[in-house]
Parts: sequence; C-alpha cells; structure tokens
Amino acid sequence: MTEENTGSCNCGTVRFRTRGTLREVIACHCSQCRKQTGLYYAATNIADSELQLEGAENVTWYRSSPDARRGFYRTCGSALFWKRDGDDYSSIMAGVFDEPTNLSIGYHIFCADKGDFYEITDDRPKFAQSRI
Ligand SMILES: [Zn+2]
Repeated sequence: MTEENTGSCNCGTVRFRTRGTLREVIACHCSQCRKQTGLYYAATNIADSELQLEGAENVTWYRSSPDARRGFYRTCGSALFWKRDGDDYSSIMAGVFDEPTNLSIGYHIFCADKGDFYEITDDRPKFAQSRI
C-alpha cells in the first residue's frame, strides 16, 4: 500500500497530500531558517509528482537565496515549503503534516549558525554547515 500523508497551513486554506515514502527530517539551524520559523527548520521532502497541493494560489514564494525560494501562507503565517530552483522535489515543513506523521529527525545541519538560546540535545548527527 502506498503511504499517504496530508497536511495544511495553520488555518487550513492551503492543504496538501503526499504519496510515497517521505524523506527523514533534516533540521536546519541556519539564520534564514531561524528568522523564518523563530526556531529552526525541520523538513522532509517528496517528489513534486507525488505532491498534490490544494490552494496553491495562496502560497507566497519568497526568494531567500539566489537558488532557492521559501513558500508560506501570508494570512496565517505558516512556513510550508523550501524549493531549490530546478529541483523536481520540494521540502515540506514536518510540522505542517497531520499526525501521525511517522517522521523523525535524521540529522542537523548548519549547527554553527544555530540560535544562541537553545541547545541541540538529541543524539542525531550534527553538521556545522551543509552535510555535503
Ligand atoms: Zn536553513
């Protein structure tokens, strides 16, 4: 049976459905992710062909770096997506999935940039910058 997951923004205007196995969650502690979420970005991803988006016209895309954009819903403020130009898959914030997600954090990236007000206390691998 194909795994299916659903999720939405905080107010439910943007909804989505994914089919297939989601990637393990990567926690990104870079300053952009901190500013966007107030803490850190925890995201899985899925091929665009397996992502069904309802209310896509409500997603605002912010160009956060020369090669990537961040999608959010401007009314309720939910951070939803991160997408690198040209990729045929999208990162989706783990926290916007309906539960149970069956997701868990695989590793942490950009730990050198993490906020100074918290510690990363789990036993998952930690990378100072990107993993690659
Ligand atoms: Zn980041």
